[in-house]
Amino acid sequence: MINKSLKQLGQALAAKDISSVELTTLFLDRIARHNPELNAFISVDRDRSLAQARAADARLASASVAQPAAPLTGIPIAQKDLFCTTGWKTTCGSKMLADFVSPYDAAVIAKLRDEAGMVTLGKTNMDEFAMGSSNETSWFGPVKNPWDMAHVSGGSSGGSAAAVAARLAPAATGTDTGGSIRQPAAFCNLTGLKPTYGVVSRYGMIAFASSLDQGGPLATSAEDCALLLNAMSGFDARDSTSLDRPPEDYARALEKPLNGLRIGLPKEFFNDGCEPAVMAAVEAAIAEYRKLGATTVDISLPNSHLAVPAYYVIAPAEASSNLARFDGLRYGYRAPDYDGLDDLYMKTRAQGFGAEVKRRVLIGAYVLSHGYYDAYYLQAQRIRRLIAGDFAAAFTSCDVIIGPTSPTTAFKLGERTADLVKMYLSDIYTIAVNLAGLPAMSIPCGFADGLPTGLQLIGNYFDEARLLNAAHRYQMTTGWHERMPEGI
Ligand code: GLN
Repeated sequence: MINKSLKQLGQALAAKDISSVELTTLFLDRIARHNPELNAFISVDRDRSLAQARAADARLASASVAQPAAPLTGIPIAQKDLFCTTGWKTTCGSKMLADFVSPYDAAVIAKLRDEAGMVTLGKTNMDEFAMGSSNETSWFGPVKNPWDMAHVSGGSSGGSAAAVAARLAPAATGTDTGGSIRQPAAFCNLTGLKPTYGVVSRYGMIAFASSLDQGGPLATSAEDCALLLNAMSGFDARDSTSLDRPPEDYARALEKPLNGLRIGLPKEFFNDGCEPAVMAAVEAAIAEYRKLGATTVDISLPNSHLAVPAYYVIAPAEASSNLARFDGLRYGYRAPDYDGLDDLYMKTRAQGFGAEVKRRVLIGAYVLSHGYYDAYYLQAQRIRRLIAGDFAAAFTSCDVIIGPTSPTTAFKLGERTADLVKMYLSDIYTIAVNLAGLPAMSIPCGFADGLPTGLQLIGNYFDEARLLNAAHRYQMTTGWHERMPEGI
């Protein structure tokens, strides 16, 4: 059961080969056994999950041929702990929200639970306020990589990635501001999809950098991601950046042959910044795509070297504004002893936020301040526009852009915590996509020294179905995505 696809699980549930309660129990037992070491989950609530499973079983029991249950009904899923969830704590990986219980559900939570009938298995560990690439900024401690416990699982959706890689959950949600779905997917041998900005509602998704944040699925295959995106996406009037488009079936083109697919290879992604073993796996994947009928074209994204610097102005600027709400008055942590209002603010934020979050808030306030706004913030926005222009030009000669997801495999725990530039550079290939608002995926493409490597596929706006098709065809002929870590 732990290696079945979501489609197979849905069929097993519909055929009553297994009940949702049995399936949920199986995963809860695996969490109980392995989570103490992996630290992938922050909150698990057996009774609550099983109550949801019983409700799903009732839905399945009353389904008929004329009125079948939704395809994912009764399948458990792990939720990244920044989606507000009634009845559960939503911590965002921070001491600031360590005991926070939201009075409302995020759109993603409500859609997956109420519309799709999925069962919440628990809330997964993450970098504090999604700021990080290794899960080491979490107040709840780092997540270990199931492929090698001495290594990081990636970030910020590292708990979700570790949970799925270790088969403590069949699938999970993540969010991606600069790479946080794709990079942990690459580090843990998973398939992850960051949709076009505005496709998945951000309502109830705790904001880091609002113009970049986007929720999406982390799973073992492209087919699973397509089914999850079907259930997660859709217009939501409560999110002013949600796009009002007709619903799509993202699985509609999965099987389409790749003959004639034009793959763009940006020269900036194939330089010596990438570890040779990772590059070798990417090159082998490109050869596989040629065998599948795709053609390759050399392209250029000339401003991509500016993506990381622009991101580390824009994302902190937005974060400093978004995180102003954590003031000790409305909700979340409040310093126990203080002397007046200013002191309450200062002590609450000094004690409630970790070092990385404070650093970003300071940088953000600085680049937005009078006298520096033009030099930093405005300049970064101009670069953002240039980067989007690079992609627009590239997509006139190709359909999908391919390259590595991250320049290295999962690094060792503690290896980069003292070298922030190195840490920030693990997203060097992913960040430009968020600045442009494009959809992108990471799929498993082999191993280097026993650790997974990821292939990134970037599409034009709203081209998720084509990306999923390209990923699925590759997964039909290569077995990388089916590998799971030993000993778990
Ligand atoms: N690693 C990047 C950062 O630290 C991206 C994080 C994310 O996508 N949430 O900001």
